[in-house]
Amino acid sequence: MNATSMLDLIHELWFLRRDIVSDGFDQALYRLAQEVPMVIHEYPTGEQCWTWRIPEKWTCHEAYLETLDGKRLLDAADHPLHVVSYSLPFEGIVSREELFAHLHTHPTLPQAIPFVFKYYQRDWGLCATQLLKDSLKDDRYRVVIRTTFEPGTLKVGEVIVPGQSAETFMLAAHLCHPAMVNDDLTGVVVGVEVMRRLLAQSPPYYTYRFLIVPETIGSVAYLSHHEDIIPHMIGGLFLEMLGNDSPHALQFSFQPHSRVDRCFAAAFRGLDPRGYTGAYRKIVPNDERQFNAPGVRVPMLSLSRVEKPSYPPQPYREYHSSLDTPEIVTAERLEASRDLVLGLLEAWERDQYIVNHFKGEIFLSGYGIWIDYRTNPEGNLRLFEIMERCDGEHTISDIADELTIPFQAVWEVVSIFAEKGLVSFSRSPARHG
Ligand SMILES: [Zn+2]
Repeated sequence: MNATSMLDLIHELWFLRRDIVSDGFDQALYRLAQEVPMVIHEYPTGEQCWTWRIPEKWTCHEAYLETLDGKRLLDAADHPLHVVSYSLPFEGIVSREELFAHLHTHPTLPQAIPFVFKYYQRDWGLCATQLLKDSLKDDRYRVVIRTTFEPGTLKVGEVIVPGQSAETFMLAAHLCHPAMVNDDLTGVVVGVEVMRRLLAQSPPYYTYRFLIVPETIGSVAYLSHHEDIIPHMIGGLFLEMLGNDSPHALQFSFQPHSRVDRCFAAAFRGLDPRGYTGAYRKIVPNDERQFNAPGVRVPMLSLSRVEKPSYPPQPYREYHSSLDTPEIVTAERLEASRDLVLGLLEAWERDQYIVNHFKGEIFLSGYGIWIDYRTNPEGNLRLFEIMERCDGEHTISDIADELTIPFQAVWEVVSIFAEKGLVSFSRSPARHG
């Protein structure tokens, strides 16, 4: 297998016309399948998936706007965002008023072409910068939109890391959105790199599955065809918008007291001190909704670099626009996000019950147990508070949660206890006398 860097993959794939069921989406997915072992699931147009139906494949052959004397004002050949994703075909002379009813601009960035999609509304449309729209003074214009709708297959890529247990942790990111990068090609390449790392290590305890989907409908299609494994899905993490210049944001699941929510909250504290957390749907709602929804109820969190809530709400300045380019993403931030995801999963693997093989307080100096307060002040201060909770009924994240300290600080202490034979780890609670 190749091992192209995350940023190189972005440069290769970003400008493709990756609409939800399209040749561009397929091309990007097949390219990613050269990077990591991948199963590609196909769901045909028209197939019922729970309350949803797989849409048609959409192709834009040509789309432009001209003055009546033939001056080309915008052309989808120059930028895929000039045509609304899933626009109906349309050809004709229109008045400026009619054109303006179908010509979309970005609400805050006058120099950007907006991303507009009408998957289910059935309408035609073009997109332009506000600057161009403001310059349109003619009474009539010529519109050409040659698009086709036809039967195709929606594709979902799945990368599996088999674990010792059938209990499965889900990761997901979406590959759709033509000619945009941060939303969500960044989540895709970070996920691919995380899976590559997991596959290179010795087999984990849990099984991991990473899904590369077209937004929403891809998750619904996969879940509705894998109802048998839903009961084994014990948690998940959606990855998105991981390249822009903001600290990490961890959004909790619909079940904020789930094991995975509490474990990730504690681990996140130790991994990105600048990061912030937020409730379900309060940072950025996306595909994790399908996993958290009724009948599925998998606690799936999401990790992003969404900016702190502002008004009007926008995940980042260039969101859903032609300014969401490779220029707003850096290799360093992608690598930091990859390492953060790996850190969360490492905590998840380690998060077991701590079974005490001691009674009373441990004679710490007798065991030569010393935690350097300079490198781990919490560990040093909290040593006794951690020790008294090692009773077979607390997991590592339970203790981190109770003491509001990073998962890693608890791990550092209990792994020393384990080396000395004072405790062992168990996947289920154990009561000792
Ligand atoms: Zn989006």
